[in-house]
Amino acid sequence: MKFISTRGEAPAVSFTEAVAQGLAPDGGLYLPEFLPDLTPRLRVWGNLSYAELATEFLGIFASDIPPDDLARMVHRAYATFTHPEIAPLRRLDERTAVLELFHGPTLAFKDFALQFLGQLYGWQGARTGRSINVLGATSGDTGAAAIHGLLGRPRTAIFILYPDGRVSPLQERQMACTGADNVHALALDGSFDDAQRLLKAAFNDHAFAARHRLTAVNSINLARILAQCVYYLHAWLRLTDEQRERLEFVVPTGNFGNVFAGWLLARMGVPIPGFKVATNRNDILHRFFVTGEYRVGAVEPSLAPSMDIQAASNFERLLHYLYDEDAARVRAAMAELAAGGCLAVPGVTGEAFRSTTATDADIAANLRRVSEAHGYVADPHTACAFQDLDPARYSVVLATAHPAKFPEAMRAAIGSAPTHPALEELKSRSLRKHRLPADLAAVQRFIAEHAVP
Ligand SMILES: *Cc1c(COP(=O)(O)O)cnc(C)c1O
Repeated sequence: MKFISTRGEAPAVSFTEAVAQGLAPDGGLYLPEFLPDLTPRLRVWGNLSYAELATEFLGIFASDIPPDDLARMVHRAYATFTHPEIAPLRRLDERTAVLELFHGPTLAFKDFALQFLGQLYGWQGARTGRSINVLGATSGDTGAAAIHGLLGRPRTAIFILYPDGRVSPLQERQMACTGADNVHALALDGSFDDAQRLLKAAFNDHAFAARHRLTAVNSINLARILAQCVYYLHAWLRLTDEQRERLEFVVPTGNFGNVFAGWLLARMGVPIPGFKVATNRNDILHRFFVTGEYRVGAVEPSLAPSMDIQAASNFERLLHYLYDEDAARVRAAMAELAAGGCLAVPGVTGEAFRSTTATDADIAANLRRVSEAHGYVADPHTACAFQDLDPARYSVVLATAHPAKFPEAMRAAIGSAPTHPALEELKSRSLRKHRLPADLAAVQRFIAEHAVP
């Protein structure tokens, strides 16, 4: 299978090329040239383990990787998870279940994609004999997950840009206390959107990106989207017919990568009737699905910091399908958005997404309510998804992080915070981060000095 750019001005490439490039050379995002119809396979996939299912599903797209190599990478990626089911589905009551996505090494759902991506980079490096320098921007969890996917790998350096003081102290420790020499935690004087803007600018400096063989690891990488389709599929296969008919996946959303993966899977013939986009007070996507107008505002810090985003980078992938795969319209829309910070897509309000927004007070109230009603302690991101659950539906709430990652927010919300042994251990380690201004030249200088040749 080949992969095309949303902007239609770059050649179609293989899976491994799309993964290596991250962003397409025309500034667009990669998507499959066509979507497979999974309908005939759904009947035979029901009994597969998580890793077996992931191998089968990803094999459809990664057609330029030998099947045995792919199977080995997938099994290694998910062997780092501590729960035997990898993505367990926990029943809360007859109309609500939680899909727990936090049993990976950094306790957030990003591990699903980044453990696999780390394997892919290692495989490519071994085949080509070339070093790689990975660059990512993070609001907290991506950076930690990317780092743990690449920790200590030979001929690999990883640079993670994050907003100084806007990620939780434990998230920062997961990035800056690894003790690994190939890991560079870059604390920017700015917001997450600044970090993402600098990341895009570094890649758009094509000479610089080529000289250092820069590879992107943020949520725009195609491999991340595809790896994230798998847990929706794994969960769907475990539901009853009656649950499937009323199903709504409720997804805490920031960059729109996670919920987009589920929606893409539905377009491949998995009959999922609904998705709900759950935002925090940074409600650009909620307003978009209610009004049809995408208007970028200022980012406000919240109790769910990994969703403090106003420019959802995977939005462009949604536009590709909303505009019937017309690259000229996507280009025009992205130019309009870049120029004015606003875009109208009138038809979107009738689409498959419903949406909610949650203030910090809502997050706290939801955490208390879920804890009292079900004895279940969710994290502040997952709490956004418990906003206004529809009693007529079977809601599968995606739990995107373990609550122990956000002790300050948990204490602010419910007065106490759970702990996790993997995080307790980090507290005794020394922290190594580099403070930088939100300035492209400063970032490029740091990369040039520390990149693997
Ligand atoms: C990244 C993240 C999100 C948002 O996911 P997107 O794919 O950016 O929409 C939600 N919750 C947690 C805990 C995260 O780390």
